[in-house]
Amino acid sequence: MPLTLSSPITAVAGIGPKKAEAFHSLGIFNLYDLLHHFPRAYQNRGDTKTLVEAAALREKCAMVLTVATRPRTVMLKNRKTLTKFTVFDETGRCEVTFFNQNYVGSIFNVGDVFRFFGKVEPFRSSWGISSPDFEPVNSNRPLADLYPVYPLAHGLSQKVMQNIMGTALASLDALPEEPIPEQVRKRAGICSFSRALFSIHRPSSVKELAMAREYFTFEELFLFAMGVLSSRCRESFKDAPILKASSKDMEGFYSLLPFTLTNAQQRAIAEVQNDLASSTPMHRLIQGDVGSGKTVCAAAAAYICIKSGYQCAIMAPTEILARQHFADLLPLFERLGIEVSLLVGSMTPAKKRKVHERCASGEIPLVIGTHALLSEGISFKSPGLIITDEQHRFGIAQRAALLGKGGERSHPHALALSATPIPRTLALSMLSDLDISVIDELPPGRKKVSTFLVDESYRQRLEGFICKQSYEGRQTYVVCPAIENSGDEDEDCDLLSLDGSLISRKEEIRMKSAIDYYNDFSTRFPNIATGYLHGKMKSKDKDAVMKKFAEGEISVLVSTTVIEVGVNVPNATLMVVENAERFGLSQLHQLRGRVGRGELKSWCILVSDSEKPETRERLEALCKTNNGFEIAQTDLKLRGPGDFFATLGRERQHGQLTFRFASLLDSSELLDRAFAEARVLTEDDPRLEKPEHISLSHALSGINDNNLA
Ligand code: ADP
Ligand code: MG
Repeated sequence: MPLTLSSPITAVAGIGPKKAEAFHSLGIFNLYDLLHHFPRAYQNRGDTKTLVEAAALREKCAMVLTVATRPRTVMLKNRKTLTKFTVFDETGRCEVTFFNQNYVGSIFNVGDVFRFFGKVEPFRSSWGISSPDFEPVNSNRPLADLYPVYPLAHGLSQKVMQNIMGTALASLDALPEEPIPEQVRKRAGICSFSRALFSIHRPSSVKELAMAREYFTFEELFLFAMGVLSSRCRESFKDAPILKASSKDMEGFYSLLPFTLTNAQQRAIAEVQNDLASSTPMHRLIQGDVGSGKTVCAAAAAYICIKSGYQCAIMAPTEILARQHFADLLPLFERLGIEVSLLVGSMTPAKKRKVHERCASGEIPLVIGTHALLSEGISFKSPGLIITDEQHRFGIAQRAALLGKGGERSHPHALALSATPIPRTLALSMLSDLDISVIDELPPGRKKVSTFLVDESYRQRLEGFICKQSYEGRQTYVVCPAIENSGDEDEDCDLLSLDGSLISRKEEIRMKSAIDYYNDFSTRFPNIATGYLHGKMKSKDKDAVMKKFAEGEISVLVSTTVIEVGVNVPNATLMVVENAERFGLSQLHQLRGRVGRGELKSWCILVSDSEKPETRERLEALCKTNNGFEIAQTDLKLRGPGDFFATLGRERQHGQLTFRFASLLDSSELLDRAFAEARVLTEDDPRLEKPEHISLSHALSGINDNNLA
């Protein structure tokens, strides 16, 4: 049956309900998701070894060997079977064995040549290979050199994943839509989407892989640029309402705050106030370090909007964050006599409907919710301002969709808040269409988080410290770079990464994963309440775990970087980052910002065994300063802008803007090119109505992204 990108994965031959579940746990629901589940690396089977070399290597590798004896199958005691035969090359002979795979007996004939992939180990006085992969060497069909290695989930093996990917690629009905118009592709010198898609899964060479990577890098930058520019363009068709509050009203607002605003906050609010008073729609980003007090600036903006008789929406990326904003802002707005409504996924349909109705009728002045809910079928009678928290975590397209909610009459102002301290030089090229207010000052009296860099030899002391915090009633975050080490045997060899560089097997294995860490720690310390969290969990489950942590039910939370932004748990006093060398400085700084949010003394422990001087210099820089902007500059200097993008979000989450491929850039040249092309295109066809731009318009409106939380 021909399939399209929106077909559910169960439509792919070989995926039953059980496998489907495993795929779901990887965030894969339809063919689009499946085909965008890219290999994380490649085995280089083109790099064949002789038996002698393979035996010396002691890791999986490819060998071209000739069958020397007819396979024999014997019955073992426990009703298992063993099939074995001898193979050879110019350097020696080797015994090949297969367990419970009788059928292989008929495949291997004396004199046939195969490319085997496996590990050669000492066997009796000679060598042996157990259950290797094999492919017949056949002169009229050359074998592929690069074999994809996919991120896996429990219940999926590399082989299953490879086969299913092959089936999916083969059963695609016609070619998928090309999101980037041909003209643009030609000028940018990149290949087509369908070509790139095939090549990334089945590269015939390193060169082809590079081409695919270039395509996807450009695609994500170009779509990002289009998102930024086209939402801006669409806005300029309409006027925004003029929003003003009297200085008496503002004084009333300020007098209700339990603190005095910092100079930086006052400046940001003044800039926002200025924008709101104009009929040109505001498009402003408030950028400020974790804890710098952005929320109150947003509240001031909301207040001005509501006082002018318009409605305001505040969107947060997760339910827990939305609830937190609601809890924080409710007392303030109540005292101002302004009703606040919450709109989150766990509310009953009836309650949600009620909020929808009252928004549409204009009764509700301020609604706080998750972006998923707010961008879904809600309309406002008189929208004045839309605020998004942690803006870089939103799909630009979703935001643009929300901005269009005002109907044809008026167009709301937009304000975004972000803790990612994007260095100005980058901000200029990337976000040239946003105005930026910077909060470069923390409220007075903040305690510095003591930061230390340690190596594996501190493991025991570190665990002792985690336990001590827990016994004292405090809480700890442990952040690991990976979700799960699948125990995948295919990893037992050197791999080529997507950018063609070599990943050594040893390095791979050393990488800590959240689930393994959790299993190990919770087994060894059963009386400490431990939980885990990662980006591939359903948002409902993530929120539930985060809620437990926030309420103190979980004492040690093992997580990937998903906790990076957002939640405020003042009782958390210790942040441990495993494999700290794998994170960007800005990202580490954000992670560190999760602790030290209350009165309590807090620590951040960076664990790294890296001996590279550059890495140590980077990590030590973090131990020395707590200033996010300084750190961002150092990050940029030490790692270059390419890597900087990676810190914006390494884990893919639906509806989020992440740069997976752009992280492989070594200059911002491609980004500039993407913006230049996007500018030409939006000037030529601002509403993307020309037939050649339809599929781009689809891509931008997230038509394929049908599994938003
Ligand atoms: P972020 O910028 O990370 O969103 P928040 O807005 O959540 O930071 O503020 C962090 C904490 O600092 C909150 O508890 C808030 O009440 C407090 N805060 C904000 N501004 C000030 C200030 N000027 N003086 C003292 N405390 C402040
Ligand atoms: Mg915040």
